Amino acid sequence: MPRPDPTSPAHAPTTAQRVVAGLSKVALVFRHAQWAASRERGLTPTQAQILAVVAGNREPRGMGVKAVAAQMAVTMATASEAVGALVEKGLLRKETDEADGRAVVLTLTARGGREAARASEWPGAIVEAVDAMPESERATLLRGLVGMVRSMQERGMVPTARMCVECRYFRPNEHPGQAKPHHCQFIGAPIGDADLRLDCAEMEPTGNDADTPTRARLWEVFVNGQPLDQYGPGRNGRARPGVRASMLRRAVSESLKGTSS
Ligand code: SF4
Repeated sequence: MPRPDPTSPAHAPTTAQRVVAGLSKVALVFRHAQWAASRERGLTPTQAQILAVVAGNREPRGMGVKAVAAQMAVTMATASEAVGALVEKGLLRKETDEADGRAVVLTLTARGGREAARASEWPGAIVEAVDAMPESERATLLRGLVGMVRSMQERGMVPTARMCVECRYFRPNEHPGQAKPHHCQFIGAPIGDADLRLDCAEMEPTGNDADTPTRARLWEVFVNGQPLDQYGPGRNGRARPGVRASMLRRAVSESLKGTSS
């Protein structure tokens, strides 16, 4: 019996399916690294992630269990169970929310803070594999991942990410033909695809006032390779005055030099 031709349209997996097959291999390594690292410290991967999420929280009021569950895209029951275990292990504390006496916020103990720092480290093997790619391919991969995360976010599959492509300071394609064609108004400097952020602490959502482009418009011009000409932003290349301290700008600028997220 003749063997099916794997390249014929009837048998070949689609490009999307092959991309997902590749991602699943990366996910396998990721999960293995997470299990190995957390088991070594007597934690489950969920518990380790909760520590990292609480450590990364920038809301002044702190995070409750509900916010943790939303951030990690897990059920309340899963988050509650893991939080309870972390409290028992002396890594998390439950405190009463000063603004709402009935609510509880989670804070890290000193030991929890140290564990959170370790839990936030990326699996070395995957970082090395990405580092081994040529810069241009890394930038293309990052750009593609940004699109995927945005698409999954729209479907409610992942929590909202603090990405450049949804940020009021982002000006796509302001410097056509340059190695760094985009512009971050917050730091007042050009950025390239390799600098795109998926979790920027300084990100502010776009489209919340008449002064900024809508989310959809920002994405459209980013993908189509045109600048946001009708808004004329980025032309001045300056961050919005009086909004941020220069110290924070330097922090973003420094982290963009060694973009990792
Ligand atoms: S680097 Fe941060 S502040 Fe600048 S455009 Fe990207 S998300 Fe916004």
